[in-house]
Amino acid sequence: MKLLSIQERLGLVSYRNQSKSEIKPHIVVDTDICNSGCPHKCTTWVCPAKCYTLDEENKVHFQVEDCIECGTCMYACDQGAVDWNYPDPEIGRGVNWNFG
Ligand code: SF4
Ligand code: SF4
Repeated sequence: MKLLSIQERLGLVSYRNQSKSEIKPHIVVDTDICNSGCPHKCTTWVCPAKCYTLDEENKVHFQVEDCIECGTCMYACDQGAVDWNYPDPEIGRGVNWNFG
């Protein structure tokens, strides 16, 4: 059996309610906190789906669309910038789980 890279595995993740444009994001990040006082910006390197990125001016940006709900950023951020809630399975956008 061929071993898949992390990127290949992430590409296999499917999402519930993907086509809905009005869904409420399950993670809201106050990037003003990221870009004013965060000394380490650790979520830009611990998020496996690269939802947190740095631009050329070292500013943090966040996009929720590729999130795989691993929960890492909820614990990694010690600055109070991350508001994290599991998506509502009926109306929220979230990962389609195969086994539970
Ligand atoms: S650790 Fe928190 S405050 Fe710092 S960049 Fe990440 S989300 Fe923003
Ligand atoms: S829950 Fe995981 S995948 Fe989603 S944004 Fe946070 S660290 Fe990234």
